[in-house]
Order: sequence, then C-alpha cells, then structure tokens
Amino acid sequence: MLAMDYRGPYRVRAEQKPMPEIEHPEDAIVRVTRSCICGSDLHLYHGMVPDTRVGMTFGHEFTGIVEEVGSEVHNLKVGDHVLVPFNIACGKCHFCQQGLFGNCHESNNEATAVGGIYGYSHTAGGYDGGQAEYVRVPYADVGPLKIPSWMDVDDAVMLTDVVPTGYQAAEMGGIRRGDTVVVFGAGPVGIMAARCAWLFGAGRVIVIDHLDYRLEFASRFGPAEVYNFRSIEDPVYFLKKATDSLGADVCIDAVGGDAAGSALHTLLGTKLKLEAGAATALHWAINSVKKGGIVSVVGVYGPTGNLVPIGNVVNKGITIRANQASVKRLLPRLIEHVEAGRINPKALITHKVPLEEVSDAYHIFSAKLDGCIKPVLVP
Ligand code: NAD
Ligand code: ZN
Repeated sequence: MLAMDYRGPYRVRAEQKPMPEIEHPEDAIVRVTRSCICGSDLHLYHGMVPDTRVGMTFGHEFTGIVEEVGSEVHNLKVGDHVLVPFNIACGKCHFCQQGLFGNCHESNNEATAVGGIYGYSHTAGGYDGGQAEYVRVPYADVGPLKIPSWMDVDDAVMLTDVVPTGYQAAEMGGIRRGDTVVVFGAGPVGIMAARCAWLFGAGRVIVIDHLDYRLEFASRFGPAEVYNFRSIEDPVYFLKKATDSLGADVCIDAVGGDAAGSALHTLLGTKLKLEAGAATALHWAINSVKKGGIVSVVGVYGPTGNLVPIGNVVNKGITIRANQASVKRLLPRLIEHVEAGRINPKALITHKVPLEEVSDAYHIFSAKLDGCIKPVLVP
C-alpha cells in the first residue's frame, strides 16, 4: 500500500509499505478516506519530537472504511465509515474511565506522559498513522465512531482533532459570560478555539498571529478581532491596554513548539520563522492574562527545555490548564454543534491533495504557502 514515510527532518515522501495486519483481537484495519496534516505533525517534521524514527508513517486525523475486524471487536462492522479520534485509548484504565482518553495508561508503553497517538513517534506509543491507504486501529471498540449519515466526510475528519482540540482549549479556559479571550495562533486549532470561545459565552475574542491571510480568515470564522504581532512593538503591553489595562480573562496558547525546534530552523537555515515566535506565545499568554486569570495550553511542546516564567504565574495567581484533547469525550457535543451549524469545520480545509503529493503538502503547510490553513490527503 502507499503510505507517507518519514526520512528525517523536513524529509517525507510517499512510499510503498506492507499492509497493516490485525495484531490483537481488539484491532481493526481501516481503509483511509481522508487524512489531515496537523500542526502537531509539523513538530515531528521539524525534528522537535524525540524518538521520531525514520520509516514511520505519521497521521493522527483520519476517517476510513472498516476493512477487517479482530475477534474481540463488537461495535464496528466491515463497511462502516468511521472517524477515528487521534487518541489511542483502551477505554478501561484509570484515566480513560474519567474521560481522559488523551492520557490512557495502557496504549503507550512509556506510560509516563501522553497516551498512544497514531503516527506520533515512540514517545506516543510508536504506532503507525493514517497518512496511508490503510491503517491498524487498536482498541477499535473505543475510539472510532460511525460517521452520521448526514455528515460530510470533510467535516468528520476535522472532528478527529481540530474541532475537539479547539473546543477543549476554550473549555479549559473556564470562560465565563462576557469574558475577554485572547487566542495566540491563527492555525486551524487557534481559529477553532476562537470559534468555540463564543459557544462558552465569551464577550470578546481576540486572535494574534503574524500571518495576515490566517488572521483574515480568523476574523471571519471566529469572528474575532485580529492583530498581527509583527506590527505591534510589545504585544503584552498592547493587549493590556486593549483590555482596560487589567489583562484578558482567558488566554489560549494554540502555538506550541520549543527552543529545540527553533534551533533546528536556524541550523537548517529555513526561511520559516514560526518557531522563533513559538516559545514566546506561552510567555505572552502568561504575561497578558489578568491576575487570577486562566491560561489554557493546547499548543504541543517538546518534553523538556521549555522555560515557563513561573514567577509571574505565582505572583499573578494564574491557573495554567493544559492537555491533549480527549476527543471521544467531546464528540457527542461537537456533533450537535456541527448539525446545528454552529461550527463549520470543513471551511478550514484549503488544500485537498492525493497521498502521492504528501511531500509537497508538508512543505506548503509548514512554510505557510499558498494561503494554506488545513491540508487534507486523499489516498
Ligand atoms: P499551525 O502550525 O497551522 O498554526 C500555528 C500558528 O501559530 C501559525 O499560524 C503561526 O504563524 C502562529 N504563531 C507562531 N508563533 C506565534 C506567536 N508567538 N504568537 C501567535 N501566533 C504564533 O498549527 P495548528 O494545526 O493550528 O496547531 C497549533 C498547535 O496546537 C500546535 O502546537 C499543535 O501541535 C497543537 N495541537 C494540540 C493538540 C492537543 O490535543 N493539545 C491537538 C492538535 C494540535
Ligand atoms: Zn492533530
């Protein structure tokens, strides 16, 4: 089968690989119909995530048709068209029982950090992902959900990560009616977080980025007030002034990245400036939130080397909440929002390309070319 293949930082290609097989009675094999590239994949692509092995297939946001099920799979049958949450979760452990599917204790041998994630290095279990024609889906009774008959598959694939992550970013912010919410990052996740902030009762939503085309999109989709941080001398001072000098009630970090990532950019001499701003977003969030406010972090960071200005956190009495999204927990609510038209996920898809063109798709998304917001691979 054809699958994306990681060859090293900034090098991916489409390659023929062996078909995945049922390895456990609770597995299913799914024939992929849509597979997105995520900002999280860019951290792998940029070489930020430890133990990302050459030969791995990325891809944790996918839909597909069930081809085969193991003997212990009861909720799925061959032919079902499913959306598959990015978390690999056993459904039974201490954390899954609390709805913390992103922190499953069984699906990742590392068992210390996140649970398993499709195609997200050996620090997230070493599973191959769905940027492929076929993928093995472990614990197939737990994650996958049959796509409702009325739902467009392009909306469904966005429910595997972007929508729940944006929604959880707003939820973790503990937004109260009338709150001012500042979202750092106008990528798919930040744009979705801005949209969802309204669903929690925000009174004002501000989005910060340095890419005008994305800010323009966020201003319509949120809707949101948008500012380009490159045209502001001091974003923290600016945001304080814009919020009665007290600061925002809630700040959301939808950027992530880390110093290792930016060092690599410098080393490779790429023209991409993203990571230069990345480590800063969390600092801006902490420094521009109100005293006693909440900083919600969904941006993904490398496991070490991230300097949090903890003094400011303590002195301002800030609450920081952070996690991988627990997709399955949120799906029932999100499907209602999509059906009611309160969220229009597929509007974020700007590029739909055949799997053969995976290398170009990564480049375009990473370098933010051609108005790219969300690229989707179609095997
Ligand atoms: P993306 O790369 O498309 O978007 C990131 C945006 O941040 C870009 O538009 C970039 O210009 C902007 N940016 C860079 N530095 C900035 C700064 N200092 N201030 C404001 N904006 C800045 O990525 P995405 O797909 O939107 O994902 C965003 C983040 O969310 C990533 O770190 C990704 O790994 C993470 N993520 C987390 C989860 C989760 O479950 N927690 C799930 C999906 C994605
Ligand atoms: Zn993702």
